[in-house]
Amino acid sequence: MNGGMILDGKKIAAEIRMELRAEVEAIKASGQRVPKLGIVLVGNNPASETYVNNKMKACAEVGIEAVKIAYSPDIAEQTLLTQINRLNSDETIDGFIVQLPLPEHITETTILSAIDRRKDVDGLTPENVGRTVQGLPSIISATPRGIRELLARYQIPTAGKHVVVIGRSNIVGKPMAILLMQRPYLSLPSMSAASLGDATVTICHSKTQDLASICRTADIIIVAAGCPNLLTAEMVKPGATIIDVGINRVEDPNSPRGYKLVGDVDFEHVAPIAGAITPVPGGVGPMTIVSLLQNTIQAYNEHSR
Ligand code: NDP
Repeated sequence: MNGGMILDGKKIAAEIRMELRAEVEAIKASGQRVPKLGIVLVGNNPASETYVNNKMKACAEVGIEAVKIAYSPDIAEQTLLTQINRLNSDETIDGFIVQLPLPEHITETTILSAIDRRKDVDGLTPENVGRTVQGLPSIISATPRGIRELLARYQIPTAGKHVVVIGRSNIVGKPMAILLMQRPYLSLPSMSAASLGDATVTICHSKTQDLASICRTADIIIVAAGCPNLLTAEMVKPGATIIDVGINRVEDPNSPRGYKLVGDVDFEHVAPIAGAITPVPGGVGPMTIVSLLQNTIQAYNEHSR
């Protein structure tokens, strides 16, 4: 492949894990307890179980204690709320997440709103999102935080650039757009404040007309739609940076599993003309997990030490 530099999320995430490991070791060496993450899993969705196991593994790698708190798929909403409140007041847990999606009889917003914002290491409570919008210190949701970190570590500036975000979900599209348009004072300590934020952001979704023309004007495109091959080469300005958030299972008779994972970008044809591009897998996914670890250590440092 000519052209696009590969933004290697797997490699960068491994580097960050080493940095976090050193941080946790220093905490341990000072005689304090290590950060602890709770992961609430309701039901037995196989994809969720895989995500949870990956998060537990990543915690173990850096020395963060992680505990899986599993409930049956038919748990009553009220019972789950009681458990959330227990976690809110459990002083040994620095942060916790509720793995999504939840079973249909449970209202996601009700559960997420019940999480103490100081322990909301997925950054999904209305309070954390509102604080992010207003430029107040907050916990930023993991995928946008990871993408921002990836751009920073590859020194891809966003200031003054036109960024097109495809997708307007609460967990990816919306917070991503907010972070990119912010004045850079919100930047995390590990980042070069000068190079992030200050972008001109266009948010697109399924009702957007002529997505292709909008994308062609973008310096950076972030696709989080969940549609394989949504972003094709004709939609990309040569040299643009492409961040592919999508994770889609498509049939693959050559794979022993019968399927393979692809993103939302026609990688084969877009990569040669892009300036930089994330692969799937190995791009945004590992950065999302490492952001959860960073958020957990942030919660520990801000409220538990
Ligand atoms: P949602 O389904 O909540 O949101 C998808 C968004 O994409 C919606 O806003 C939708 O528009 C928009 N969209 C869908 N189809 C099109 C289209 N044809 N043209 C333009 N816009 C479109 O998904 P999520 O944000 O939760 O996730 C998006 C993808 O990212 C999924 O594949 C998911 O698996 C993946 N993901 C990956 C993560 C990672 O770590 N790599 C983390 C989180 C998610 P509308 O609002 O109009 O319906």
